[in-house]
Amino acid sequence: MALIVHKYGGTSMGSTERIRNVAKRVAKWHRAGHQMVVVPSAMSGETNRLLALAKEVAPEKPTTAYFRELDQLAATGEQASSALLAIALQAEGLEAVSFSGWQVPIRTNDAYTKARIESIDDARVKAELAAGKVVIITGFQGIDAEGNVTTLGRGGSDTSAVAVAAAMGAAECLIYTDVDGVYTTDPRVVPEARRLERVSFEEMLEMASMGSKVLQIRSVEFAGKYRVPIRVLSSFTSWDIDLNEEARSGTLITFEDDESMEQAVVSGIAFNRDEAKITVLGVPDTPGIAYQILGAVADANVEVDVIIQNISKDGKTDFSFTVHRNDLAKTLDLLKTQVAPKLGAAEVVGDARICKVSIVGIGMRSHVGVASRMFRCLSEEGINIQMISTSEIKTSVVIDEKYMELAVRALHREFDLDQPIDSLGAKQG
Ligand code: ADP
Ligand code: ASP
Ligand code: MG
Repeated sequence: MALIVHKYGGTSMGSTERIRNVAKRVAKWHRAGHQMVVVPSAMSGETNRLLALAKEVAPEKPTTAYFRELDQLAATGEQASSALLAIALQAEGLEAVSFSGWQVPIRTNDAYTKARIESIDDARVKAELAAGKVVIITGFQGIDAEGNVTTLGRGGSDTSAVAVAAAMGAAECLIYTDVDGVYTTDPRVVPEARRLERVSFEEMLEMASMGSKVLQIRSVEFAGKYRVPIRVLSSFTSWDIDLNEEARSGTLITFEDDESMEQAVVSGIAFNRDEAKITVLGVPDTPGIAYQILGAVADANVEVDVIIQNISKDGKTDFSFTVHRNDLAKTLDLLKTQVAPKLGAAEVVGDARICKVSIVGIGMRSHVGVASRMFRCLSEEGINIQMISTSEIKTSVVIDEKYMELAVRALHREFDLDQPIDSLGAKQG
């Protein structure tokens, strides 16, 4: 008898009909002899609805007190869906109990709206499992040292589920969602995208951090740290399909390198529209410039992603970097009022109409010329590259957001991602 964690996303919990379907599926696993812990998201649209309500009544300048209330509010979405699932399981004839993050408790730091899990006390959950119950734990939330409710950032239920699986030593964490696995790119943007049977942990980490929202990045980090086996699969199959078949479906995130995966130079393409570009023009090209600009940005708690400093002309240079779009206004204000005057910079400009497109693959370690192939492909489409950043297994470019879909489709074709894996080796080797 194994301990299994199931996570169901918002669409999977989107109506009472869907919740009933989830209950039937969980009951099937329970009846097969497994101890079941289930981590649901809020019903689809609920978190957005709650946050939009808060926006309507929000003060002009957001304060920590405001963010505290946002978390107090948003956490109710998962509390409701968890209780509904427990009730639906009871209707299936099972004993089920739901707990909010604070009741477990799942302890986090106090960074409202993006808290990090610090520890999970499994005693209460274990006792209920031992009593034969299905335990449901709200996704997305925890409690800080002062007893305040916190949330883990958008998409955070993935992280709750993997963290619970790690803390409880679960045999596997199954992430049920509205697609049947991890694809070569978002199948909603490229219909030819292909489901991957397996994806390496490192590739999944890059894909998630480059914007593929199928798993929240922190859930992948947790899985790596505690070696939690994760599988991404569909909750939209019929609940009564054979359990063994279901257990092998979807995409497994694996911790071993296997040869068939190395065949593909590029395994996936991720993109995100969440960033904005800032350029400080005409700064004196002297030591300490990067520090003076980015130090001030870091002090304001703004994360910086891609950075470019151009060569100087007449002792002046331009310095560009990207930040999250939500931080654009704040960062521009800071640079214009405090940093640029001190540096004697000519101008500070922001551009929110950008996107970042990344190719990811562990095969890039052993193949040369992959990045240039990406650049050639984009140039053939007439797409101008504004910024580039690379790591061992990914290359990202920042381009005008209006070309995002075109770029993703062209790259998907260029790297033969719509072809079955076996035909890749010969063509790309
Ligand atoms: P959930 O509510 O179940 O957490 P999400 O909407 O957060 O679901 O994540 C699933 C979605 O992620 C899919 O519907 C799909 O559009 C998107 N997605 C983006 N990149 C990928 C990818 N590489 N593979 C699969 N889905 C992806
Ligand atoms: N309900 C939260 C959100 O919409 C968490 C999640 O779904 O994972 O972001
Ligand atoms: Mg999600």
